Amino acid sequence: MMGLGSTIGNFFCSIRLLLFIVVCLMIVGWASFYLRDSARLIPTYKVPDRFWRCPPLDRRSEDKTPSSVEQTVKEESEICPALSPNLKGTIPLSFEPSLNLKEVQKKYPNVDNGRYHPASCRAQQRVAILIPHRNREKHLLYLLDNLHPFLQRQQLDYGIYVIHQAGDGKFNRAKLLNVGYLEALKEEKWDCFILHDVDLVPENDFNTYLCDTEPKHLVVGRNVTGYKLWYKGYFGGVTAMTRNQFAKVNGYSNNYWGWGGEDDDLRLRVTYNKMTVVRPPPEIARYTMVFHTRDSGNEVNNRRMKLLKEVSKVWKTDGLNSCTYRLLSVEHEPLYINITVDIGKPQY
Ligand code: BGC
Repeated sequence: MMGLGSTIGNFFCSIRLLLFIVVCLMIVGWASFYLRDSARLIPTYKVPDRFWRCPPLDRRSEDKTPSSVEQTVKEESEICPALSPNLKGTIPLSFEPSLNLKEVQKKYPNVDNGRYHPASCRAQQRVAILIPHRNREKHLLYLLDNLHPFLQRQQLDYGIYVIHQAGDGKFNRAKLLNVGYLEALKEEKWDCFILHDVDLVPENDFNTYLCDTEPKHLVVGRNVTGYKLWYKGYFGGVTAMTRNQFAKVNGYSNNYWGWGGEDDDLRLRVTYNKMTVVRPPPEIARYTMVFHTRDSGNEVNNRRMKLLKEVSKVWKTDGLNSCTYRLLSVEHEPLYINITVDIGKPQY
């Protein structure tokens, strides 16, 4: 009897031990999963209440060769602080109907040939803003008027490139952005690219136009969507990718003619390359969209769903490495660099 009792006792003891081990393993598993996920949301250094910005990229690992003597001098000056002391938070935007280019140029004499860098410190990253454009002069003016002071308060070393599609064929936002990337790199070894719609104006300057260690989507909310993320995978409007991140995914597809789909395609490329999309908190990633009706030549692209099904098969051969175009002009205007390009027409 004693023998049976102690065997049963040992049995229950083993079961308890086993249960204890299972519970411990579950806690460890849950904790590591939770910490891995929350690491995406927590900035690596302390920022003031409610505000967030990405950690600086390690520029040394992306670019070791200063491009000029001037660059060498800049290397010696102090790096700008992680969070610019000039930020204001939510800023009143101005959309003055009578605004003209001359007036805007007068307001920002410190921008030289579309470029600016802070005088007192070395910017964390060199940032190229790429804006695809056609027939939206007023929107461009509003964007320039609001973006220059915004970027300067962020103490960025930046250049604004407007990539203008020549002719009146179907508009191709994605291909224009590929052209912008390739042409901008002929002028400067930019660290970071901001792929920017012409009709979206940022509302809060804590939404920093810097790249992160993962591709960053900057538009969580727009006035037209009640400041809610449009859908979980939304990756359009304004997106920040480093030179290497964009090269790794082979840029955008060149095959999206008309409106829609190209941003979803880019997100799939990001996922296939084992990167994740990060976003600033909704209270700062807010934009005002300047109202407009659908442009002619930018009708909804009905082929987009079909194209989206093929991304995994074609992304390596359709993108930056297959982007053919005819460069018509590169003009250095005071407030932006104007690239005019013939990107051809759809092959269907
Ligand atoms: C389109 C995207 C667009 C989004 C938000 C989607 O259906 O495919 O290109 O950015 O809607 O308007």
